[in-house]
This record gives sequence, C-alpha cells and structure tokens, in this order.
Amino acid sequence: MKLSRHATLLACVLFTALFSSAQTVPAHRAHHALIPVMLLDGASGGPYHNWQLTTPVLREALEETGLFQVTVLSAPAAGGDFSQFKPDFSHYKVIVSNYDTEDWPADLRTQFESYIRNGGSLVVVHAADNAFPRWPAYNEMIGIGGWRGRNELSGPHWYFENGKLTSDTLPGSAGMHGARLPFQVVTRAPQHPILRGLPPVWMHTNDELYGTLRGPGKNMTVLATAHSDPQNKGTGHDEPMLMVLQYGKGRIFHTTLGHDVFAMSCVGFLTIFQRGTEWAATGKVTQPVPANFPTATSVSYRVDLAEMDPAFLHGASPVVPLPKAVKSSATAPADKH
Ligand code: ZN
Repeated sequence: MKLSRHATLLACVLFTALFSSAQTVPAHRAHHALIPVMLLDGASGGPYHNWQLTTPVLREALEETGLFQVTVLSAPAAGGDFSQFKPDFSHYKVIVSNYDTEDWPADLRTQFESYIRNGGSLVVVHAADNAFPRWPAYNEMIGIGGWRGRNELSGPHWYFENGKLTSDTLPGSAGMHGARLPFQVVTRAPQHPILRGLPPVWMHTNDELYGTLRGPGKNMTVLATAHSDPQNKGTGHDEPMLMVLQYGKGRIFHTTLGHDVFAMSCVGFLTIFQRGTEWAATGKVTQPVPANFPTATSVSYRVDLAEMDPAFLHGASPVVPLPKAVKSSATAPADKH
C-alpha cells in the first residue's frame, strides 16, 4: 500500500511538472529540446548602458519563444578578478552578448575564439559592439564596432551607397549617434531567414542610430541599414544596423539596435533579436512574424517590456531630453553610446 501511495504521489508530481511546463512553453514547441543560451553581461562603458535593466528584457524575449533555455552569466569588467569566472562555453549553443569591457585575460580570449571557430555562435547586441577594441578575433566576429579608441587602424567605415555595401578608409574615430528618435530600418537581404517575411521598411522606436562604425568587415553580410540624418547629427549615409557574419565554423548575428529597455521593447527589435538568436544557434528560423510588427510609418512597442524600466513606470518620456548646450548644436553627449 505504501508503495502504491508513493507511486500516486509521484504521478501527481510528474503531472504537475508536466502541466506547469506546458503552461510556460507554447504547445507547438513543447516537444523540442530547448536551445541552451548563455546571456553574457556584467560590464558596460558607463551607466547609460544599464545591463542590470536590459538583460531581463533580453531574457524574457528569448524565453517567451519557448525555444531557448537561458543562463545569465555576469563577467567581471576588465582589470577585475577573473579567477572565479570560468565558463564552459561548449555547454551553450549560442552566446548572447550584452557585455562591454576593454579586454579579457588571454586564456579566456583563447577559449572564446576556439568556441566560435569550432561552430559556436554569437549574438552581439548594441553595447557589445563597443567592447574589446584591440582584440582582433572579436572584431572579426562582430565585423564593425565603435568607441573605446577605435580609429582607422580598426578598419574602414562601412555603409551603403547606391544600394551597395562600401567602405571608406579615411582616418578618424569610430562610433557616433544623434538624439534618440524613431527611425526607419531598411531591409537589404529580404531572403535571409532572419528577415524573410518581414516588411522591407519598418519604423524602429526611439533608439541610438549608430554611425561611422569601423572594423574588418570580413565575411559580413549587412541585412539592414538606416539613414543617418544630418539634421540629427548624422553622417548622411545608410548605416549598417543588422549583420550576419561567419568566423571559422561559427555563425554570428549582430544588431546595433537596443540602447535601452524602451528601444528593446520595440516589436521590430524583439522579433529580429529572437529570430537572429535562433538563426545563429541553428542556421534556421521557425518563428512567425507577429501581427503587430511595426509598419513603415508607425512604431510598435510592448508596454509589458517597456515598464521593466522603472523610469517608464514613473512616467518618464521615452525620449530623453538633450541638455541645452547639446540642443543648440544638435550634438549628442560624447560620452554616451
Ligand atoms: Zn547606446
């Protein structure tokens, strides 16, 4: 009798476990093994990139697809104590980086390079393309990056001209943006699995539009661009926004979008981040396009995600007012990126 009572109890627990998991994972996904994701954070160039707030948004975006099992790993900043940071990269199918620091210890760099070269995959989100300015392999993986002293030695500027990717080796620094306004993102590779089925032009919510990014641009396909408007301190060029790259056997998806929680709450950002992560991990995209994807003239953002930033809940405008001096010269603060 005792045994059978135990058996009943076990069955109940199992049923509860199954039922709960069916509640959290969409039914059509439940039979798939989840893709193990390392979501890397722990450092940024400054408080303007608030990884403590943005990492939970990225995590939610991945988990709600029912495709991914996300583990957040917070690494020290350059010069910190790395003795306790010993990640097993091979445990993960894809590393999503929301991490920006100057450098890593040599052994960690070697392990990371080897992981990607041998078929690991990487997703680079906004601030992460500021990281590691003097690590050649990392810069090859991301294709282009900005700030932290990057200049013509880091590689040429890359942008679109007359519908084609071009590069400019003129000397100068790398990385700029204007005020955070909505802007149109233009598809350049509509048949790529990440973008297939999405509108050719869509309006992104208020974000930093990165320009003058530099890098080797090797094995890089630019999937989408945005026009950097000279009226908002822009370059006048169509700047790369979304890229895919190959490094050894590794697949890389790079989005320059996603400065803060509000920018990440954009349905366009989220959809492409979710699809880009699946593509990096598997080479395929199985996710449908949501009905509320932004149009060419209207933004679409998720309030449930935007309110993960307490400032949004307290009624702050998503558009951060520029300081007076900046308004008159239409120049964004140099220390923010
Ligand atoms: Zn930024």
